[in-house]
Amino acid sequence: RALPVDQETKNFRRQVNGACFSRVMPTEVARPQLVAYSKEVADLLDLESNASESDAFAAVFAGNQLLEGMEPFAMCYGGHQFGNWAGQLGDGRAINLGEVRNSRGEHWALQLKGAGPTPYSRTADGLAVLRSSVREFLCSEAMYHLGVPTTRALSLVLTGEQVERDMFYDGHPKLEPGAVVCRVAPSFLRFGNYQIFSSRGDIETLRTLVDFTIRTEFPHLGEPSRDVYLNWFAEVCRRTADMIVHWMRVGFVHGVMNTDNMSVLGLTIDYGPYGWLEDYDPNWTPNTTDAMGRRYRFGNQPQIALWNLVQFANALYPLIEDAEPLQQSLDVYVDHYEQGWQNMMAEKLGLNSLQPETDVKLIEELQEVLQLVETDMTIFFRKLALLEVDGEPAADIDEAALLAPLMDACYEPEKVVGDVRTRICDWLQCYHNRLREESSSDAVRREKMNRVNPKYVLRNYLAQLAIDKAEEGDFSLVNDLLELLRRPYDEQPDQEQYAGKRPDWARSRAGCSM
Ligand code: AMP
Ligand code: MG
Ligand code: MG
Repeated sequence: RALPVDQETKNFRRQVNGACFSRVMPTEVARPQLVAYSKEVADLLDLESNASESDAFAAVFAGNQLLEGMEPFAMCYGGHQFGNWAGQLGDGRAINLGEVRNSRGEHWALQLKGAGPTPYSRTADGLAVLRSSVREFLCSEAMYHLGVPTTRALSLVLTGEQVERDMFYDGHPKLEPGAVVCRVAPSFLRFGNYQIFSSRGDIETLRTLVDFTIRTEFPHLGEPSRDVYLNWFAEVCRRTADMIVHWMRVGFVHGVMNTDNMSVLGLTIDYGPYGWLEDYDPNWTPNTTDAMGRRYRFGNQPQIALWNLVQFANALYPLIEDAEPLQQSLDVYVDHYEQGWQNMMAEKLGLNSLQPETDVKLIEELQEVLQLVETDMTIFFRKLALLEVDGEPAADIDEAALLAPLMDACYEPEKVVGDVRTRICDWLQCYHNRLREESSSDAVRREKMNRVNPKYVLRNYLAQLAIDKAEEGDFSLVNDLLELLRRPYDEQPDQEQYAGKRPDWARSRAGCSM
């Protein structure tokens, strides 16, 4: 297991120059124990259906055992954190095991998160706790099943060791169970992987990495050249826009959109202090360390992605030496996002096509209406699909019937009175009238809406309940939620308890990061 001596002596925490990665070994842990695994991801890797039952499975995915061909390494990257250049960051607690080529000819990189220190661990321990690992594991798979581009999670393993963590709320260190998640993606390359070389003026390594990325992850763009670099950047812009549209659709707030957490494949990566919008508040952020600036609030995610793409463009500039074509792609991001967002909102509302003027107004007014009283975003859209339009002119509809979808989603029904009530009803009337112009029947519209408006998301309090139980050795809720979230758009009549409003005790509960 040990690294060759020359590698071990070089494996201290340091600035790594002129290299994209460093060879490292996962740290051996006491008692690997499998908490949960994703069978879809196991399938992607062509693992046998009973693979997870063997002790070797937990040992390998805790980092205790290497399979033939695994040559673990940690990647070097930098990043802008909260808007400031932070220098070298790197895989401080992530160790790549290598890639699997499956029978479909796809390649999937495996990465252990929390498997011990690397040259990039800086002042931290290289470990992860059960709390953050449950959150990463469940959310990666939930996002996948929602149709959101994301890194995946194969497994969640307890290490049998205790890890010391500072809990912000009382300031005292606390011991928590250690855990390792095995993440899976075609590649974990981030904007920060390119930024670090550019920031050091190491254009040769920058070019090496860019060429490698294009050849392995974007082969459809052709052999690397200056034009191909530009096409690649444009594609990263489009993929990023698509990803953010999906986040806005499902109410996901990433919480730490630093440039080191932006995948060049346009995948959601690094599930830390993320959260799910419950009441529709574009200013909400789950990240308690961002409570002042709210840089990473829900409604700011599209702008932050653009800001991050600007930093990425700066990093690529030495290979292009002309700002103009890079700027054109950034403009493409803006258009692509705007179009994508409008189409997505039209779909959420069950409109077959978007009428540019009037529908955009309808959507904008809805965003305001949703903020008049605390309204659960997920429940609202699901209930909105129940509106009955076939045959009935809106004028004949009783206000209470119109208001029903909103009331079911409302956290403060007592506030739906007077002007507020009038404004909400007005919007619902307009929406009702608009639906009457559509050709689809209620049933067809409902079915389509329910395919883009999830019934089940990983509500913040649900993840917390699963964590609380898991910390007591009961993994049932982790596994139940994993199962539930495999079919987020389906009605699951015996699982209604997971589709309801957040209970009062869980109000504005923030996520956690470490
Ligand atoms: P994040 O905020 O999760 O994107 O992490 C920012 C940087 O801190 C990355 O380089 C991580 O690898 C590193 N990091 C986070 N937690 C730890 C830890 N417990 N040990 C070592 N490095 C860490
Ligand atoms: Mg990160
Ligand atoms: Mg993180």
